[in-house]
Amino acid sequence: MGSESVKVVVRCRPLNDREHALGCKMVLCMDLHRCQCFIEKPRAVDEPPKQFTFDGTYFIDQNTEQMYNEIAYPLVEGVTEGYNGTIFAYGQTGSGKSFTMQGVTEPAAQKGVIPRAFEHVFESIQCAENTKFLVRASYLEIYNEEVRDLLGNDTKQRLELKEHPEHGVYVRDLSMHTVHSVGECERIIEQGWRNRAVGYTLMNKDSSRSHSIFTIHLEICNTDGDGQDHLRAGKLNLVDLAGSERQSKTGATGERLREATKINLSLSALGNVISALVDGRSKYIPYRDSKLTRLLQDSLGGNTRTLMIACLSPADNNYEESLSTLRYANRAKSIQNRPRINEDPKDALLREYQEEIKNLRALISGQLGTANLSSLLSGQSSETSPAVPSRPQSSNTEAEKEKIKEEYEERLAKLQAEYNAEQESKAKLQEDIATLRSSYELKLSDLEETRASRGSSITRNAVSVQKGPDGEGLRDSPDVTTAGSLDQKHVLERLQQLEQEVVGGEQARNKELQQRHRQRKNVADQRKVQLITALSENSEDSENVLLNVYNSIQEEVHAKSQMLVKVQGKLKAAKLEICDLQAEFEVERDDYLATIRRLEREGQLLHSLLERMVPLVRRDCNYSNLDRLKKEAVWDEDSATWRLPDVMVQKTTLPSAVAPKLPAHRGSAADIGEPFSQAEEDRYKEMLGRSDSENIASTYFKSKRASQLLGGEATKGHVIHSPPLVNGVSHLTVSGSNTNPPVSSDSVLPRPFRLESLGVPMSNGKVKRKKSKSQINNEGN
Ligand code: ADP
Ligand code: MG
Repeated sequence: MGSESVKVVVRCRPLNDREHALGCKMVLCMDLHRCQCFIEKPRAVDEPPKQFTFDGTYFIDQNTEQMYNEIAYPLVEGVTEGYNGTIFAYGQTGSGKSFTMQGVTEPAAQKGVIPRAFEHVFESIQCAENTKFLVRASYLEIYNEEVRDLLGNDTKQRLELKEHPEHGVYVRDLSMHTVHSVGECERIIEQGWRNRAVGYTLMNKDSSRSHSIFTIHLEICNTDGDGQDHLRAGKLNLVDLAGSERQSKTGATGERLREATKINLSLSALGNVISALVDGRSKYIPYRDSKLTRLLQDSLGGNTRTLMIACLSPADNNYEESLSTLRYANRAKSIQNRPRINEDPKDALLREYQEEIKNLRALISGQLGTANLSSLLSGQSSETSPAVPSRPQSSNTEAEKEKIKEEYEERLAKLQAEYNAEQESKAKLQEDIATLRSSYELKLSDLEETRASRGSSITRNAVSVQKGPDGEGLRDSPDVTTAGSLDQKHVLERLQQLEQEVVGGEQARNKELQQRHRQRKNVADQRKVQLITALSENSEDSENVLLNVYNSIQEEVHAKSQMLVKVQGKLKAAKLEICDLQAEFEVERDDYLATIRRLEREGQLLHSLLERMVPLVRRDCNYSNLDRLKKEAVWDEDSATWRLPDVMVQKTTLPSAVAPKLPAHRGSAADIGEPFSQAEEDRYKEMLGRSDSENIASTYFKSKRASQLLGGEATKGHVIHSPPLVNGVSHLTVSGSNTNPPVSSDSVLPRPFRLESLGVPMSNGKVKRKKSKSQINNEGN
């Protein structure tokens, strides 16, 4: 299996109005022929510009069409042949990622990579001969490290990542949408685009704060000369990443800062994955560090052809970010992928569809079985199978004819509308109409044929379909394959439905389109050759200086000293690069440290809160023991959450041996009807209350905390202060334990009596409570 490197191109947008207004200077320039990009440090005239070479460079005047044709085209074409492909745009906010991926409708040359990819895929599909395709699309976004389905019923729902031993990482429950045309694809992407999370930062007021991945899943079934089917599957990921700028620059605060941290986390995870892959020494690639890297796992070092489009702003005030993007892109060039054609995908839906279409066709045209057997079975079925009622033939067939005609007309109208809208040529339209008409006629003649040998053969064939090895595969058509409820109408409907699901070969005879398709393929090939020549020229230059035979020593000295100057310049640039990198690492480290400090502070706050809250939890609940909980908690990689033990309350009846130790008045408490465990519990409460009330400082604060934390309950707590509430307290206490709720997670919230143990106006409460007890006792006596 051959490996190939990730392709990387850079694209620089023009200065925008804001940058013009600020009087920004351009610091970027490009040598398009040699695919080199130069960046000058602002206000550092003596420093040579930094130079990078890529697989393609696109400056302010180049458009998306050119870029697509030169570099994206072969990758997308590969997907229609059964390779996986990924195109992703990287760069700071406002650098043109969405402009490149999504694009604009005017001018047409700036239409984005995503819509171009649809058109390309469908063009290839229509030109393909003897090949059928099942095309499905999905669209997701990663926002704040949560995966959401942009085309799902609930776009807010968080989806989980799962790993399949063969298919790798996938998103569970992600919706897949079968698409049949460019128009449908456009509608889908528009729908998803509207659902994306868009935020406001200083850089770009409508920049997206999430990473999005639009995926076209292809299943390809090619029928060879011998009538054998060959299945393949390809997948095209089109990724629009969120901005990569530093937090300090965007002026983000609060929620935006939190977002930025997460965005940076997944982007730095992406950077770390790239570094680890390029490093060669590291065996461990940290794909698992973020959702983004997990989803792109196959695109970085796996079975995928990958293209990275690094987007740049040319302005001097974005120098740092542009340089960082260029370095990032430069590293990505060295990633080696191992793309291969995905042959014979195990769970291909298309295989099931094809099988079913074949079976249904055989079924409807009554081609299987001998006439004798048919008539025999016909006799049997009419006698023995009441489940297949004999219908009035002619009216049924008429209805069928009518239905097919209606559908034919409907499809025809749709096609016409589509073609009008797209202003496609008349020739294509006619060809399509002809295809449609012939399929209409075929279906009608099939129907006639079936009418001739109807009934028995259908029943018999149905049995053979059921017994077929792929009986399972017909899961979507229970009506059709159950012998009992089988009828022509359903078979036809299902057949039509299935045939509409798959596409391919509609324009196989359109010479003009085929020609255009081939030409576009050539553009990419020619460009590759050009690039190789340009790059080899570069290295030949220096070799020639060394190998040349010179006429005189002076000439040689001149040539070689010129080369020396060049090399010295390179050396200087390399040394500067080292300094720069070190400075950049410092900045990055500071950024990380700031994030760590902030997270530590957050962690500390939560821990302090917990420490205050844990004593409020009843002791017989497992959540009163923090250390044990920590031990029992398990980190779940897939959902990236902690799995915590269930809340449990262990109601233990204390051994009777303790009873004699009870103070005398306790016994009387039991006498007045409190159960024994209640008395016991009271004793512990009292002990707790006493020990807490001894600590004046904590008592003071705890009372406040407790009333805050208990919220609704705290209002009850206040009641404790007022005199009539002596009863209230006693009531609270008694009800708290008597109505001891059944063990359930809801019921484990702190109960009112804990206020006492915390010493809320506890000392009051306690005194009063004691009084009340003694009153009761006295009364009791
Ligand atoms: P990003 O997605 O990287 O945050 P956008 O794609 O939204 O940035 O681009 C920011 C702005 O710059 C948009 O208004 C866009 O129209 C403009 N822009 C980006 N790239 C180009 C380009 N190559 N030519 C002209 N305008 C561009
Ligand atoms: Mg964007």
